[in-house]
Amino acid sequence: MNIAVVGTGYVGLVTGTCFAETGNDVTCIDIDQTKVEKMQAGKVPIYEPDLENLFKRNIKEGRLHFTTDLQAGIEKAEVIFLALPTPPGEDGSADLSYILGVADELGVLLKHYTIIIDKSTVPVGTAERVREHIAKNAKVKFDVVSNPEFLREGFAVSDFLKPDRVVIGTQSPTAHTILRELYAPFVRQGNPLFFMDERSAEMTKYAANSFLATKISFMNEIANLCELTGADVDAVRLGIGADERIGKRFLFPGIGYGGSCFPKDVLALAHTAGEYDYDFRILEAVTNVNDQQKQKLIRKVRAYFNDQLEGKKFALWGLAFKPDTDDIREAPALEIIRALTLAGAEVVAYDPEANANVQRIFHDNKSLTFALDAYEALVSADALLIATEWSEFRAPDFERIKKMLRQPVIFDGRNLYELEIMDSHGFYYNSIGRRTVEP
Ligand code: NAD
Repeated sequence: MNIAVVGTGYVGLVTGTCFAETGNDVTCIDIDQTKVEKMQAGKVPIYEPDLENLFKRNIKEGRLHFTTDLQAGIEKAEVIFLALPTPPGEDGSADLSYILGVADELGVLLKHYTIIIDKSTVPVGTAERVREHIAKNAKVKFDVVSNPEFLREGFAVSDFLKPDRVVIGTQSPTAHTILRELYAPFVRQGNPLFFMDERSAEMTKYAANSFLATKISFMNEIANLCELTGADVDAVRLGIGADERIGKRFLFPGIGYGGSCFPKDVLALAHTAGEYDYDFRILEAVTNVNDQQKQKLIRKVRAYFNDQLEGKKFALWGLAFKPDTDDIREAPALEIIRALTLAGAEVVAYDPEANANVQRIFHDNKSLTFALDAYEALVSADALLIATEWSEFRAPDFERIKKMLRQPVIFDGRNLYELEIMDSHGFYYNSIGRRTVEP
């Protein structure tokens, strides 16, 4: 099949590459010229495990192309995926200007029957709006389908190739047949392809992300209460996770969720509710709890140093909003850097993939520097702070850490270490929802 993907970010590039991998001819279109030139030169512009191999192979096989030219990019396309940003507007609603802007252009450019597929996360009713925007100018028949994407950054390729489920919202029999064919290679193991109406498909994506964000905020509140009551959140987590109705996954407390999806999707769903005069109270609480939780490590550090952070030096491990990605959007580490440097402290940060992205944002912050490896960041630091659970932080050389720090103090926002191990090494170790280890 001939496919165009408009928007070549985390979702668009993975979508395009994976469809090329199953034999389709894919053109990825993006307005970012630098990014497109990089891809045309065979370089992957983002970090995502396994993406590079697939990307290079499909370029070599001549199935994956890149352009900034929308008209040329969609010329032969039978289906066009829209994987464009839907950032939060001032009022929390999803900003649809990218999607509707491209829809306006497509109306003029379509030359034959085409299926336009919303892969972006968009509020209920957007497929209808996209249809109206295209129809204003279109001279040919077309269908608009909702096909929300559920991939997780850090697992994007494997999630796309082996999705838990594929959700497709359409009432068009032609679109139904073509999408079934397109996704057939990815659901061979019997993972479900759910066909539904487009409004339900749009709602499914927001319901999924908001539910997961709720699970995180709920566990963070349990962790906070564990700290106050002397319970251990790890034990509690295992105790409740064994109940199949609750499930083991997504019960880890921490310093709040970040990323480009949960924060904005929770706000957007609350906004949609508001448009229907429905007060979705849980969602407001989920966001408030998360905002508070992102301050958690900062508050712990302030308390430990009696609010005297001026002249202190902190090592910060982990900058990406989660491991195995270079994405730093809404990452808790950014707030930590802002708060500590504003209070007069120096931060030496290290992340396996995200240093460059953070450097771009904080380029004029003289109190922030970057280390080339995790241990280098520790040199003469007053404490180590951990903000992202990268695997390489999970089993470090504790004695080496102890020697390099000015004092053996760790604030762990991701509960990476067993308390008994920290006891035995003589650290002050403060994590989330567990007892504080004192040397
Ligand atoms: P992104 O910001 O990584 O990528 C968007 C791309 O679109 C950028 O490369 C940008 O240059 C390009 N773009 C902007 N305007 C354009 C235009 N007019 N024409 C062509 N290209 C244009 O975004 P993303 O993380 O891939 O997310 C895209 C959508 O998918 C969002 O709605 C998001 O909520 C949703 N989503 C994201 C994830 C995720 O994990 N990132 C998962 C599921 C769904």
